[in-house]
Amino acid sequence: MKSHAKVVVIGGGVVGCSVLFHLARHGWTDVVLLERDELTSGSTWHAAGGMHTINGDPNVAKLQKYTINLYKEIEELSGQATGVHLTGGVLLAATEARLDWLRGVVAKGRYLGIELEEISPNEAAELMPLLDPKQFVGAVRNKEDGHLDPSGVTHAYAKAARKLGAEVERFTKVEDIVRRPDGLWRVITNKGEVVAEHVVNAGGLWAREVGRMVGLELPVLAMEHMYLITEDMPEVAAWNAKTGTEIIHAVDFDGELYLRQERGGMLMGTYEKANKPWSEYQTPWNFGHELLAPDIDRIAPSLEVGFRHFPAFQNTGIKQIINGPFTFAPDGNPLVGPVRGLPGFWVACGVMAGFSQGGGVGLALSNWMIEGDPGADIWAMDVARYGDWATMAYTNAKVRENYSRRFSIRFPNEELPAGRPLKTTPVYDLLSAKGAQWGVAYGLEVPLWYAPEGVKDEFSWRRSSDFTQVAKEVATVRDGVGLSEISSFAKYKVTGEGAAAWLDRMLACKLPKPGRMTLAPMLKEDGRLIGDFTLANLGSEGWFLAGSGIAEQYHMRWFEKHLPDDGSVRIEALGAKLTGLSIAGPKARDVLAKATRSDVSNAAFSFMAIGRMDIGMAPCLVGRVSYTGDLGYEIWVAPEYQRAAYQALMAAGGEFGIGLFGSRALNALRLDKNYGSWGREYRPIYGPLEAGLDRFVAYGKDADFIGKAAALAERRQGGKLRLRAFIVDADDADVIGDEPIWFDGAVRGWVTSGGYTHHSKKSVAVGYVPKEIADESDGFEIELLGKRHAARIQAVPLFDANFERMRA
Ligand SMILES: Cc1cc2nc3c(=O)[nH]c(=O)nc-3n(C[C@H](O)[C@H](O)[C@H](O)COP(=O)(O)OP(=O)(O)OC[C@H]3O[C@@H](n4cnc5c(N)ncnc54)[C@H](O)[C@@H]3O)c2cc1C
Repeated sequence: MKSHAKVVVIGGGVVGCSVLFHLARHGWTDVVLLERDELTSGSTWHAAGGMHTINGDPNVAKLQKYTINLYKEIEELSGQATGVHLTGGVLLAATEARLDWLRGVVAKGRYLGIELEEISPNEAAELMPLLDPKQFVGAVRNKEDGHLDPSGVTHAYAKAARKLGAEVERFTKVEDIVRRPDGLWRVITNKGEVVAEHVVNAGGLWAREVGRMVGLELPVLAMEHMYLITEDMPEVAAWNAKTGTEIIHAVDFDGELYLRQERGGMLMGTYEKANKPWSEYQTPWNFGHELLAPDIDRIAPSLEVGFRHFPAFQNTGIKQIINGPFTFAPDGNPLVGPVRGLPGFWVACGVMAGFSQGGGVGLALSNWMIEGDPGADIWAMDVARYGDWATMAYTNAKVRENYSRRFSIRFPNEELPAGRPLKTTPVYDLLSAKGAQWGVAYGLEVPLWYAPEGVKDEFSWRRSSDFTQVAKEVATVRDGVGLSEISSFAKYKVTGEGAAAWLDRMLACKLPKPGRMTLAPMLKEDGRLIGDFTLANLGSEGWFLAGSGIAEQYHMRWFEKHLPDDGSVRIEALGAKLTGLSIAGPKARDVLAKATRSDVSNAAFSFMAIGRMDIGMAPCLVGRVSYTGDLGYEIWVAPEYQRAAYQALMAAGGEFGIGLFGSRALNALRLDKNYGSWGREYRPIYGPLEAGLDRFVAYGKDADFIGKAAALAERRQGGKLRLRAFIVDADDADVIGDEPIWFDGAVRGWVTSGGYTHHSKKSVAVGYVPKEIADESDGFEIELLGKRHAARIQAVPLFDANFERMRA
C-alpha cells in the first residue's frame, strides 16, 4: 500500500468506487480506495439493482439520468459487464391526487430531457401484463427505467478507475483518521498508514462510524428493507415468449411497491409503514455479507395490495425474501460535499439509491475536489443543508418518517410532523395561541399562516383552506400594518480590522456607509451566485449580514474557506442567539414611533437605515427594510428580549389595527414586487445579470471581488437566461415551482416559484427563460397539473412599481 496519496476514498461500495472512477477520469490518478473487506461489503451487494431517473428534486433527477447513461461507458472502459437491462417502466396511480402528482413529474421531465408520457391504465396493462387496470386511474411510461447487476457495476467502476491509474486496496480497514498540523490527513489502517490531502468518507453502512473518527456525527441511519422473489411464473414465461422482451418495471405508488422481472419470476419490494431502523447507534464492524431475518408480517399489508393490483402474484410461491440494511439521510437524499471546519474531508454517503445516484454523486464530488465547484446545482444533496440540530434522535425520527413515506404524496402545503418541534423561538407559544400553523426551516419552527378556530390546512395541489385567511393577512399589511416572525433568517456578525476589506472581496456590492444597509450578492469564481444578503455597516460594532436561513452552514463553509489566516477577520453565525420580528405596512412607522423613543421619522431614519433603539424596554437593532415591498422594519433582538419586543409592538400597534402575518402571506407580498429568494430564484447556476441582481453588483468598484472577471464577462456577453415574472391564467391552482414554461409550443424554461398574490389578485409564476425570448409579449404558457395555461410577462412590479411606499 502506498504511504502517500492525493486522495484516500474510504469504502468500496458502489458510491466509493464511483468517486474513485470519477477522480481518475478527471485526471487525479494519485488516488487510492481502501475497503475493509471485498468490494461491495456493505449494502451494495444485496440491492435489488433497480435504477430510475425520477426524483423530487429536478437537479438530482438530472444526475440520476447521468448515472444511467454512464453504465455503457464504464462497461466499455473496464471490460466488466454491468448487467444493465433498460426495460423501461410504468409509474402507476390508483388515485386522482397521485395522477396529479404524476402529471407534475411528466411536466418536469419535459425541461429535464427525461422522456415521460401519460398513458391510460389499459395502455399500462398492455406494457406490463401483470397489472389489473381496474385498480388504477392512470399511469406514466418511463423509457429510462431498468435494472442492473449491483456487484458488476461496482467492479466495473473499480476496474475502470484502476485502468486510469487509481489503486484499490481490499481487506484494509480504516481504524482512525487524524489531521496533522500541516493540514494533511493521516489515514490509519490495519495495514499501516496513508497520508492524504483529501479523504472521502464513502463508508455507506459505516459512514457514521467513519465520521466519528474525525468528531463528526453525520445524520444518517440504516433501515431494514425487504423485497421478495417469486417462483417462476407462467405469465412471465408467456410474456417473454410472446414479445421476446422482459416484463418492464413498475412502481405502484399507492401500493408503495416496486416490481421487476427476476429470471423466470418477479421481484417485488416495498417501503412498509411499520418500518424498522437497523443498528440505531453503532453499526457492527463484523457485519458483512449477512442478510437480516425477513419479517413477512411487517410487509404483509403492502403485499396484500400488491396481490390485488397484480393478481398473478396470488398464484405463485415466494422463493426468497431478502432483508438488508441501507442508509438514509433525514430527507432521503444523499449527503455529499466538503465538511465545514474539516478542510480536505469530504463525504459521499447516505446514498439510498446508489444505482440511480452513485454516478452523479461521483461526478459532483470529483468536480468539487478538482475544480472547486460541483459543476451542477446539487443543493438537494449538499451535506451543508444540515447543521448541528440534525441530532441522532432527530435523524432517527425523520428517516423513519421518510422511509414510510417513500412513495407517499407530499402536497405543496403539507408539513411533515416527525422530529418537531425542535427549535423554537421565545414567542412560539404566543404565536401558537393566535392560531399559528407552523412549518420548518433549517430545524426552526416558522409561522406559515394564522388559522381561525377550527380551520386547518387541507392538503391539496389546488388553492386550499388557508386561501381566505392568507388574503386577510396580506390585506392587513397592505392596508395597515402586520407583524411577522423572521428569526429563520441566518444572521452573521463580521468583525476585526480586516473586516471591511474582506467583505469588499467576498461580496459583489459596494459597501454601505456606517448606519446604512445594502443588498449584497455574493459570487463564486465563475461569476455565478453563491448567496444574496442584506449587508449592514454597524460602524465601530462591525458588520451585520442577514441571509437565507437554510443556507447558514453552506455559507459559513464558504466564508470560512476564504477567511485570512492572520485572524484579522472574525465571522460568527448568530443562529438562535439573535431572533427577529418584522413590521410592515403603511402604518408600520406609526407603530414603531409609538413603541420607541428614538426618532424614526423618514428624515432621521430613511429607507435602508439601520441602528440600535429600544422597543418598549427591549434593546434592539432595527433596519428599515422589508421583503413585503411596503414601508417596513426588521427588528433584531436577543432571544431573552424577543417576547418583550413583541408585546411592546403589539401593544403599540393596537390602535393601528396591527395583525399577524406568516410566510405564506409574505410570499404573496413579495410576488407583488418580483422579489426573488435564495434557493428558488437565486441558485449557484445563475449569474447576477440572468437573475436580475446585476443592479446590486458594483462592477466598477476597486476591490477585486470574487467572480468579478466572470461577472464582467456575463455583462458583456449577456448570459443565457433571464428571470421573469409571469401572470398566469390559472383556475384553481397556482404554480409551486419546477413547472415547465412553454413558448410557441415548445418547452423553453422552468418555474422557480410563484403563487397567488391576493393584493393584486393574480396568479404569478417566476422562472427562467432564454434571453432571446425574455422580452416577448405573448406566446408563453405555463403547465400546471397537466394543462397548459396562457401566461404573459409582468415586467414591472404589480404593486408600487415606483418603489414609493417603502421609501415614504
Ligand atoms: C434490500 C435492498 C435493496 C436495495 N435496492 C436498491 C435498488 O433497487 N436500487 C438502488 O439504487 N439501490 C438499492 N438499494 C440501496 C443501495 O444498496 C445503496 O444505495 C448502495 O449500496 C449504497 O452504496 P454505498 O457505497 O454508499 O455503501 P455500502 O454499499 O454500504 O458500501 C460501503 C463500503 O465501505 C466499506 N467500509 C466502511 N467503513 C470502512 C472502513 N473504516 N475502512 C474500509 N472500508 C470501509 C464497507 O465494507 C463497504 O464495502 C438497496 C438496498 C437494500 C439493502
